[in-house]
Amino acid sequence: MINSDIEADTIKKRWQDFFDQYDYDDQINNLRSIYPDEKSLYVSYNDISSFDSEFIDNLMDDPVRYMDIGENYIRENIGLYNNRAKRIDVRLIDVPDINGIKYEIRNVRSSNVGTFISISGIIRKNTEVLPRLERAAFKCPACGELTYVQESYQRLLEPIACDKCGYNKGKLKLIPEESEFVDTQKLEIQENPDNIDGTSQPQRITVIMEDDITGKIFPGDRVTISGVLKADQKHLGNIMLTEFNIYLYANNFKKETKDFENIQINDEDERNIKKLSKDPDIIKKLSKSIAPSIYGLEIIKTALVLQLFGGERKLMKDGTKIRGDIHILMVGDPGTAKSQLLRYMTMISPRSVFAFGKGSSAAGLTAAAVRDDFGEGRWTLEAGALVLADNGFVAIDELDKMDERDTASMHEAMEQQSVTISKAGIMATLKSRCSILAAANPKFGRYDPLKGITEQIDFPPPLLSRFDIIFKLIDTPNKEMDGKLADHILKTHQLGEIYKGMENNNVDLNIPQEDEFLPEIEKDMIRKYVSYAKNRIFPRLSHEAIDILRDEYVKTRSSNGDSIPITARQLESTIRLAEAAAKARLSTIVTEEDALLAKSIVDYYLKEVSSMNGKVDIDILNSGISSRQRNELEIVLGIIKELRESKGKSPELEEVMDALQSKGISRDKAETDISKLKAMGEIYQPSDKRIDVLR
Ligand code: ADP
Ligand code: MG
Repeated sequence: MINSDIEADTIKKRWQDFFDQYDYDDQINNLRSIYPDEKSLYVSYNDISSFDSEFIDNLMDDPVRYMDIGENYIRENIGLYNNRAKRIDVRLIDVPDINGIKYEIRNVRSSNVGTFISISGIIRKNTEVLPRLERAAFKCPACGELTYVQESYQRLLEPIACDKCGYNKGKLKLIPEESEFVDTQKLEIQENPDNIDGTSQPQRITVIMEDDITGKIFPGDRVTISGVLKADQKHLGNIMLTEFNIYLYANNFKKETKDFENIQINDEDERNIKKLSKDPDIIKKLSKSIAPSIYGLEIIKTALVLQLFGGERKLMKDGTKIRGDIHILMVGDPGTAKSQLLRYMTMISPRSVFAFGKGSSAAGLTAAAVRDDFGEGRWTLEAGALVLADNGFVAIDELDKMDERDTASMHEAMEQQSVTISKAGIMATLKSRCSILAAANPKFGRYDPLKGITEQIDFPPPLLSRFDIIFKLIDTPNKEMDGKLADHILKTHQLGEIYKGMENNNVDLNIPQEDEFLPEIEKDMIRKYVSYAKNRIFPRLSHEAIDILRDEYVKTRSSNGDSIPITARQLESTIRLAEAAAKARLSTIVTEEDALLAKSIVDYYLKEVSSMNGKVDIDILNSGISSRQRNELEIVLGIIKELRESKGKSPELEEVMDALQSKGISRDKAETDISKLKAMGEIYQPSDKRIDVLR
């Protein structure tokens, strides 16, 4: 039977029978006593479906009519008869994730308009909650009586004539005080990053929430929303167009819990995961499996593996939180595979988001309150990459191009792992608990080993220090390495061409593969393995690990004389990496070995980006210049000034060199220092052989 042929009375009778048989009478009675504080009756999909499968099918096909009749029945029952504006909502719970009801956002089509569907995703935007007219009262200019019109979402419907006297010569006047309003809010939901491959543009859809379900979900929340798909005609000013926008008129929503995982792991997977974890070389194997087409970079790949697992997020009794996520930055020359690594990690990390430093949206990397078309005059809160990646991973390419506004909120996002917005009517704190892998290009195109890292990227040093690890990738010609790299890239391309050929000709030759291109562990398996470890393994530090970390920390700090090699921050980074190493082995205990691996990575990075003449000095990171070096530069500058004053003219370069040598500064060092001072704009060379201070 076509459901529109079914009489309204028949449908009403079915609702009545259903409510009777499934004991909804108590709930309806309860609603009577709490109305209008609460206006929704929550009805189980499963109940209706087991009551009458045809009835639930018809309800799914023609929800507006069926719901309306059901709501009218309840309204009558609780004594709100004939007053349609007194809103009652039947809201469905337990809506199943089955085909025909559950849709991917990208698969929602015009053929779904008018039907009941459910979609899952992540909230990208929400507007303020504002009232809209639900039942508009219009006053007749002739007789002064009121005519009521039931309004729906968006354009105002006006009466053609007065209900009482039939006046139709002019407009009736809207009287807000006599009208009734309902709370309304607009949201934008975006596909779950897990369901897309990390490179394609995620699809979005608008959702309208009304009445008692408004104000309950925020950008960054992962939700499943069910409701009626509606179409709304597009217009340019007053001109109506033939295209329609579709939106979901929400009936109900469900927030996904924190440990909700999209990645399915079956028993066989679990056996494989456990077997893999027994391999003593598991961390090495995992790092070899990361981007096999990218040659070398072993330490970086190992760090990326540890980042996948992350350390433990800690909540102390006094309310302080310590982040467990590991943040990594790669700075370096163009063409050193930074972007490639970012893409690869986005592909294998659960819940990942890829972003550019210079975002295309108003929200940028963090979040923003904006007034745009979406809000139709209302303020909209929009989540950026770090909020969308909550409980996941975000790759940021070209971080150096980040907007200034983002720079300010990045501190909070990276350390407290939240983003606070307080602007206009919007005041919200959104969560951004994610690990960050960022890449940055040097300011002057190429990394200059003579300069400190802070001078080379447009990036405030305090933010730099929020990264647990910073790698620099320098592209210097080296015959042996270049040969190997070229071989590797050529082989990759050759192999790609063979695959392409097989695809074009629809053949599948069994080509003997060279091991280096085959990841030992497949991408899918890595995702499952990581997801399994993150959800089930919560390691703690063993006494041996604690001893090592403490001793090494104290030893390193006392070894450097006048400079400070590391601070407590680096100790925390080491702990996070050690915990991650334990997780990677699916072990609940952080061992001595985990601690040593973590320490070796931190040591490597400090030596790379924060050392001068072989000595690690954290001030290089914090301010761009080591304390030792600052002293040395001052000595050099002082000597040039002295000579200048005693001579009354620019001293000769050779004189300066000699004077420096007598102070124990070697020629090599002196040359470096002088070029540094020149770059800093402290000195200049009036001629080839002379040098002078700038004033
Ligand atoms: P970046 O982002 O650092 O500028 P890209 O990721 O765009 O560099 O890399 C440029 C190209 O060079 C890519 O096609 C990449 O595969 C290749 N490439 C660079 N370094 C390596 C490497 N170590 N092994 C294999 N390919 C590499
Ligand atoms: Mg790049």
